[in-house]
Amino acid sequence: MTENQDLPAGDDPRIEGPDHSVVWHAFTQMADYQPFIIEQADGCELIDTDGNRYLDAVSSLWCNIHGHNHPTINAAIIGQLQRVSHVTSLGMSNPTTVELAARLVKLAPDGLEHVFFSGDGASSVEVALKMAFQYWRQCDDPQPEKSLFIALGRAYHGDTLGSVSVGGVARFHQMFEPLLFEAIHTAIPDRSRPPEGVREEDACEHYLGELERILEDHHRQTAAVIIEPLVQGAAGMVMHPDGYLAGVRRLTRAYNVLMIADEVAVGFGRTGTMFACQQEEVSPDLLCLAKGLTGGYLAMAVTLARTEIFNAFLGDPSRTFFHGHTYGGNPLAAAAALASLDIFEQEQTLQHLPATIEHLERCLHPLRDHPLVADVRQRGMIAAVELVEETADGRPLPAQGQSGAIVCQHALQQGVWFRPLRDILVIMPPLSVSCEQVSRIVDALAAGIDQLASQLQHAPCQEN
Ligand SMILES: *Cc1c(COP(=O)(O)O)cnc(C)c1O
Repeated sequence: MTENQDLPAGDDPRIEGPDHSVVWHAFTQMADYQPFIIEQADGCELIDTDGNRYLDAVSSLWCNIHGHNHPTINAAIIGQLQRVSHVTSLGMSNPTTVELAARLVKLAPDGLEHVFFSGDGASSVEVALKMAFQYWRQCDDPQPEKSLFIALGRAYHGDTLGSVSVGGVARFHQMFEPLLFEAIHTAIPDRSRPPEGVREEDACEHYLGELERILEDHHRQTAAVIIEPLVQGAAGMVMHPDGYLAGVRRLTRAYNVLMIADEVAVGFGRTGTMFACQQEEVSPDLLCLAKGLTGGYLAMAVTLARTEIFNAFLGDPSRTFFHGHTYGGNPLAAAAALASLDIFEQEQTLQHLPATIEHLERCLHPLRDHPLVADVRQRGMIAAVELVEETADGRPLPAQGQSGAIVCQHALQQGVWFRPLRDILVIMPPLSVSCEQVSRIVDALAAGIDQLASQLQHAPCQEN
């Protein structure tokens, strides 16, 4: 920070140049990349190098929970810094990490009593997949033929090869097909777009029926079903029918298959309860948590496991789980995570959520009738506004994927930062967002969509 203070404000070529030429950004076409550099943040606002403020409408990609630069989390990290910054979790430990593990077990659905630390969401999924696989080889009634995973259509579980193997977003995953292990994918259990001939109220039963047919045929070879509970984020904020999650739990039990819940995105209050599984009183066999774990401060992830699974790894050295991440359980990150959990209590975060969720719903309501809006959906503090593919008079919107970006560009000028999923505009601000800020976020989005509409009116008919 001190070094930066003597830098001139504005488009500083000393930062923007290397940001373009040296830094290779994630999920970004670098040929088109425009530097956008945040130097500071304050509560729900990001501040760029020119001093412009933007509301963080997507919680810095699901991570931020209580706002940026929160004094409680800052103090916890500083306090930990003065004790120890890193202790390996390979055969040893430290008090902060132990305290966090115990606290997570208390909060998590019943039966998840063991905590394995890693560094990011994809790793927490890799851990769950490998634990499930090894479990079936070492449990009391070994079933070494159980090697297969069942995943949902258009699932997203991270970008390492194991997590990509259970993923189903063609745009991200197709390229790596030859490197992946086999997984069976169901149709995506989309509550608002059931298949032809299936009524919306029958969608849950329909999707569970499909999963049951797959299990009937393959349960003997299947190690686990992996699911993003309630909402599939990267698939486009696809929301499951009520009862689907509980149905998956029932079927996995009935067919003797483990259930892995990937709450990397939806955990920590995002859907209105601490964990999404709690909305359908589901306790999975393995639970993956990451993004919001440290309140959006430091990289940390966990995989929680049931005692039966943990016990299968006890005994002689060959039964050990030979897997680890060097920084797993890092005390600084653990201190941030504990502080985040403290804030949930001190600020009564979950208790305040219903009012914010309802306000968001009210703000979004008028957008349902906008001619460029195909769908508005919401689950807790996750909302999606999906744009139509063409206007009522049959004009196509700018080439697929561009309309969302255009709307977000307009919204940025109104002081709100969004990151779209192609033509799906996503709203998932920090849980600490005020109702006034929610209104500003939705207003900026609506203004952006209006600007897109007027741009279309003035554009000559496009061919694309
Ligand atoms: C983001 C995400 C991951 C991957 O987490 P990383 O920390 O980016 O590796 C896994 N699962 C879900 C559901 C996610 O949204």
